[in-house]
Amino acid sequence: FENEFKRLSSLDLIGQMAAGISHEIRNPMATVRGFLQLLKMDNDFGKQEHYFEIMIEELDRANSIITEFLSIGNTKTSDMKMLDLNTIIFDMCPLMEVDAVTQNKMIEVETEDVPYLLLNHNEIRQLIMNIYRNGLEAMEEGKTLLIRTYKENDSVVLAVRDQGIGISQEVMEKLGTPFFTTKDNGTGLGLGVCYAIAARHNAKIEIETGNEGTTFFIKFNIGHRTKG
Ligand code: ADP
Ligand code: MG
Repeated sequence: FENEFKRLSSLDLIGQMAAGISHEIRNPMATVRGFLQLLKMDNDFGKQEHYFEIMIEELDRANSIITEFLSIGNTKTSDMKMLDLNTIIFDMCPLMEVDAVTQNKMIEVETEDVPYLLLNHNEIRQLIMNIYRNGLEAMEEGKTLLIRTYKENDSVVLAVRDQGIGISQEVMEKLGTPFFTTKDNGTGLGLGVCYAIAARHNAKIEIETGNEGTTFFIKFNIGHRTKG
């Protein structure tokens, strides 16, 4: 599938998101500030407890926005190194394990020896994190998320398969649009960041989805050249 968003260059993408993000971070800050002012005037403990809850939620939200966008910067060629994708995945295992276990879900990793790729370490971590977290969030308790690497023609493929609810055609068309989310506490930034990172690595993102769940394929060219 194709959408307008993906036709934007990765720089437009980042600019568009950065503008939105400043706004999205100021909102929770303004809310927290407002409640702090209320607290200063209000001695009703019942109410105060509620104010604290809202403030914590808002701070968490600002934190997720920053986390999902964090490693998007101005990647220089010097930040790209020949790296083993499998090593990056193994290094992330403890983090993924905590995320899965706290949601009562499982993550399995299956790797094949694949050629080294010219990668920005932080960005690839970010891409993997944003995608596996979506996968976990789409699944019910007890389900398993599978992360695989393998070689296919002239590509190294990173496949993240969940046993989640799948993605409807309607949602599919909006995927990656900054701030598009179907979740109550979603940021709608994760996939946009993934598309930008993939574009910078000349990688393609393909999606297969159905009743059984969704698989995200990130396909890296072997021996590709980076853009700027
Ligand atoms: P967020 O996770 O904050 O909602 P994302 O950009 O990461 O933002 O994802 C946007 C939307 O794409 C999600 O709200 C969800 O509707 C859909 N989505 C992404 N990944 C999956 C998945 N693995 N299964 C089902 N839906 C997904
Ligand atoms: Mg997400």
